[in-house]
Amino acid sequence: MRICICGTGYVGLTTGVCLGFLGHDVACLDTDEAKVASLQRGESPIYEPGLAELMGAAAGKVRYTTDADEAMLGAEVVFIAVGTPPMDTGEPDLRYLRSAAESIGQRLGDGFVVVVNKSTVPIGSGNWVGSIIRESFERKHGKKADGHFAVASNPEFLREGAAIGDSLYPDRIVLGSDSAQALEVMYRLYKPVVEQNFAAPPFAPRPEGVAAVPLVTTDLASAELIKYAANAFLALKISYINEIGSLAERVGADISMVAKGIGLDRRIGPRFLQAGLGWGGSCFGKDTSALIATAADYGLTMPIVAAAREVNRRQRERVIEKLLGELKILKGRTVGLLGLAFKPQTDDLRDAPALDIARGLIDKGCRVVAHDPVAMERFRKEYGGAEVKLAAHAEDVAEEADAVVLVTEWTEYSDLNWAKMASAMRNPLVLDGRNFLDGKKLSAAGLRVHRVAG
Ligand code: NAD
Repeated sequence: MRICICGTGYVGLTTGVCLGFLGHDVACLDTDEAKVASLQRGESPIYEPGLAELMGAAAGKVRYTTDADEAMLGAEVVFIAVGTPPMDTGEPDLRYLRSAAESIGQRLGDGFVVVVNKSTVPIGSGNWVGSIIRESFERKHGKKADGHFAVASNPEFLREGAAIGDSLYPDRIVLGSDSAQALEVMYRLYKPVVEQNFAAPPFAPRPEGVAAVPLVTTDLASAELIKYAANAFLALKISYINEIGSLAERVGADISMVAKGIGLDRRIGPRFLQAGLGWGGSCFGKDTSALIATAADYGLTMPIVAAAREVNRRQRERVIEKLLGELKILKGRTVGLLGLAFKPQTDDLRDAPALDIARGLIDKGCRVVAHDPVAMERFRKEYGGAEVKLAAHAEDVAEEADAVVLVTEWTEYSDLNWAKMASAMRNPLVLDGRNFLDGKKLSAAGLRVHRVAG
């Protein structure tokens, strides 16, 4: 099938390359010329394990372009995967969505096109996108758009850092549309994923036990709400364990054991119960605030979701509070940060806890030295190198440091030469923001280890 993807960010690029790998003919369209130029050279503009290899494997099936006419020509399915970043009001900024919808409306041909919202959009956006496309088509062609297109919602659940596996072997595919014809086209598109009958690439093997993928077909509004409800639930699971972590610390309980003890209950499950600095990234913060804003439009409050956000905000402040408690004076201190990305296996810095922690420490007069295995280049590009010194090697953040904070749980940070780091530090204090480090090993190396949660 001929496919066009508008927006080649984390979601659009992964989707386009996976669909190309599955045999579809894909045009990845973006307005960012530098990004497209890098893709045309065969270079991925983001760090995502397996993506470069999959781009190579799908090379003949995927093209990258800024030319909307060429990209949409003859496409049966046009995905919208543009960003929907948060505005100050908490609502998502829909200007990229509007612009993509207008562009699609102008380029609809005589055939039937399914326009698929993959961006996370407020409930009701499917109808809104439909009306923009209709108006744009009618303005351009002077005739009714009926029968030329239908809108579907296909929310994305991939996790950055595991995006390829999540796209090829998802837990489920959700499709929402009021058009049976659109659902039929989407079923054909995803058939190889639903039936799992494609040869898995060697760098992204099929997980054991994955035989078929459940397909949830529903109406537009339900599909849109599924996405928000899923993200809000995951966010509150993390905040819940962090709230319990604060109490565990006071009563002398070990939050890791508490999490294990409750996670073995199959009704609860072990995932998203790692106490620590809380969530970051482009989705949970944005989507929980959008959910609250949508509810407010209908005269509803979402106290549970609001509380999850508040707990998450407090976890970042706890780093500063804990350091203040230990060091008494922060002015003039040097603090090393291990990790900048909002989680391991990505270079994404959107709403990363490291940003708030660095800001808070700098505002208190600290000197901040940071390291990240893959996100330093992006950090330099997006935030400059003036306020936070970047260390070439992880162990260098300990140099003359009064404390080192583990912010992102990159595997390689568990294996640092802690004895060497301890002797390089002015004060051998480590604050483990992810309950990730081996406390006994660090203590044996001469370090005092504290946790941010529990
Ligand atoms: P992103 O910012 O990485 O990428 C968006 C891309 O869209 C950019 O490259 C931008 O240049 C391009 N763009 C903007 N306007 C365009 C237009 N009119 N035509 C073509 N391209 C255009 O965003 P992302 O992280 O991929 O997220 C995309 C959407 O998916 C968001 O709504 C997000 O909430 C949702 N989502 C993201 C994730 C994730 O983990 N990143 C997971 C699930 C859902």
